[in-house]
Amino acid sequence: MDLYESPEHSAFRTKARAWFEEHKPGNLQTLDDRKAWHRTLYEAGFVGMGWPRAYGGQEASPMEQAIFAEEMARANAPGTVNGLGIGIVGPTLIVHGTEDQKRRYIPRILTAEEIWCQLYSEPNAGSDLASLRTSALREDGQFVVNGQKVWTSQGMIADYGVLLARTDPSVSKHQGISYFILDMHSPGVTVRPLKQITGSSEFAEVFFENVVVPAENLIGGEGQGWELAQTTLGFERGGNILARVTRHKANLARLIEVCRTLRRNGGSALDDPLVRQKLGRMVAEVEVMRYAGLRILSRLEKGERPGPESSVDKLYYSELDKRHQELVQEILGPYGQLGEGLPPELALHSETLQGVEANWAYNFLWARAGTIYAGSSEIQKNIIGERVLKLPREPRADRARSES
Ligand SMILES: Cc1cc2nc3c(=O)[nH]c(=O)nc-3n(C[C@H](O)[C@H](O)[C@H](O)COP(=O)(O)OP(=O)(O)OC[C@H]3O[C@@H](n4cnc5c(N)ncnc54)[C@H](O)[C@@H]3O)c2cc1C
Repeated sequence: MDLYESPEHSAFRTKARAWFEEHKPGNLQTLDDRKAWHRTLYEAGFVGMGWPRAYGGQEASPMEQAIFAEEMARANAPGTVNGLGIGIVGPTLIVHGTEDQKRRYIPRILTAEEIWCQLYSEPNAGSDLASLRTSALREDGQFVVNGQKVWTSQGMIADYGVLLARTDPSVSKHQGISYFILDMHSPGVTVRPLKQITGSSEFAEVFFENVVVPAENLIGGEGQGWELAQTTLGFERGGNILARVTRHKANLARLIEVCRTLRRNGGSALDDPLVRQKLGRMVAEVEVMRYAGLRILSRLEKGERPGPESSVDKLYYSELDKRHQELVQEILGPYGQLGEGLPPELALHSETLQGVEANWAYNFLWARAGTIYAGSSEIQKNIIGERVLKLPREPRADRARSES
């Protein structure tokens, strides 16, 4: 495992840090603001960094991508508006798309002229994704789609979605699925935002009623959808690992500052030995996460795949975030539940990001999500048990989602 940066990587870090100092935007309130920021990132060569040059990328190494994401987190700058387009759709098209599909869609994914969403999960097909029931049946040389998706991130603003649908109900459930490009503005598509516990709406339910999808929108062959959804690894690897650690460290440093101000038993909260003990433990856990991240990055840098061991990291960071946010609430008491109006000396920080005021309460509520998306904690434990520890297989495990 490499623990130190090369001189080239340090130089890249300096460049990225200086770039954020110069270009970090103010509060992005509207979708147009977010698109404009995405465009600024793209024009500086920081979108699709790991993609092949032939498709508009920079062929940046996993370490460079991780350093960039880390600097972005350090600057507390907003991310790209087309995360799914860049993270999933572009790489899938580059590997499996036809030349026409690549020419038509890839440039506008990079510039965020067209926003994408991922239409996989259904009310009865999440972990057990292969049970999906949305159908796409051939009629007169095109496909007609009927059914429902749920938890569609960015569904309300998406122009296109990658859709998994059943094209052949007569074969085994994994073999009967195909992968499509779906125009979200087609007649018969209804998008209903879902209001979350955080108060915002970042997901939608999407309904399809006789939606016509042209045959040229099929990606890969008919019946190859499951394979495509499972095997597309993407070129944006390693990007988030150090960024997550950076965000945790910044929030923890702020919590320690707040503990100096917060009054407790006639002194500050930081004088309380139990609080100190818990903060110390959290600092150690974040450091463990950093080393786990560096181990994955070292593998990626050597061209190796992280393999099922990456489930250990997914499980660790998502559960750590939940523990971290619970500790914040325990220390702050009722203050931790205030969405707004906290005295400035107790607030997380004063900035808003993408129109959302960052606050302790929001982070606490949002921490649940990490243990669900990209394979829930229970699914990660199944993978660790079966593929890392080689324990006997759980009867349903071969059907369970594994996206990490
Ligand atoms: C923030 C966020 C963003 C998302 N964005 C998208 C998106 O853009 N597009 C999309 O298609 N989906 C998206 N999802 C959906 C996500 O993929 C599913 O929520 C996830 O796969 C779990 O499926 P489910 O919600 O149907 O829960 P279920 O699969 O019904 O699981 C319910 C509970 O049962 C447990 N469980 C299920 N199977 C097993 C098993 N075999 N062994 C042990 N325990 C099990 C689970 O761990 C969970 O606790 C998003 C989810 C979140 C939270």
